[in-house]
Amino acid sequence: MIAAAITRVATAPVPLLPRPTHHFGFLDDFAKKEIRRAVLKAICLPGHQVPYSSREMPIARGFGTGGLQLTLSLIGAGDVVKVIDQGSDESVNAVNLRDFIGKVAPGVTTTTATAEASIIQSRHRIPELPLRENQILILQVPYPCPLMIVEPSERVRRRMHAEVDYARLWVKLYEDLVRFQEISISNRYPARVHGRYVMDPSPIPRWDLPKMHQSKALILLGAGREKKIYAVPPYTEVEPLQFDDIPFQVERFQTADGRRIPCVRCGANDSFLDEIPQAAGPAIHQCSDLDWCLARAAATAGAQR
Ligand SMILES: [Zn+2]
Repeated sequence: MIAAAITRVATAPVPLLPRPTHHFGFLDDFAKKEIRRAVLKAICLPGHQVPYSSREMPIARGFGTGGLQLTLSLIGAGDVVKVIDQGSDESVNAVNLRDFIGKVAPGVTTTTATAEASIIQSRHRIPELPLRENQILILQVPYPCPLMIVEPSERVRRRMHAEVDYARLWVKLYEDLVRFQEISISNRYPARVHGRYVMDPSPIPRWDLPKMHQSKALILLGAGREKKIYAVPPYTEVEPLQFDDIPFQVERFQTADGRRIPCVRCGANDSFLDEIPQAAGPAIHQCSDLDWCLARAAATAGAQR
């Protein structure tokens, strides 16, 4: 009897307990610690590019791995995450990143409303709604160094940053002015942070650059392929590079006769617009920030009712 019982126990199938297939937030603890250390250093040295060991992620490099690693290393249960791509919550990249974050971080909720989010991961835009002190904006960065356009060697670029040697960048801006009568940089406009490092603000349009100046929210920038993290801490000076007699200008969105083009959906005349070509007739313009545009359109419709 005893032998039969032992055999039965020994051969009984062991019930398998459900085991998590990944860590909370996908990254292991060591990776999160290293990224957080890089973030702390980046906050202490505003605009300085801090190297880190960018991890392999289940998306291709160039699709926001740097931003995603920042988001996953910082989120905790109770956080509310918003992901936007070119201002839209509904693009393929934004939808997939949001779904992925929701799957690997139980307890974290996702949203499309800027006001509800505690962490906003974005590609190419800063929301129109002013951000608050308890929010973190994470920008996905393809090229973290503003000196790339004038110097191919990273070793030399690092020395130029260390020596505050931005003369060749100024020459590039001047050549633009001579050739085009205006500075032709439409995005990635170089900006000096806290009076020291010149940074690449990621491919946000010029329209968004003033929002970085004295931002109440912490702004973190992550370049996964280039393995760099840098930051704009809250209430920090961010000045676009500009000549004394040629002021920095944002996009104007004007008709040929100088009138401001309104958004076709919400009627706003104070937002960054996307130009959408039409098969027949002239192109239409609507707000790039989808959440902001829909909220304003709903408020306008409610007021008219
Ligand atoms: Zn609109």
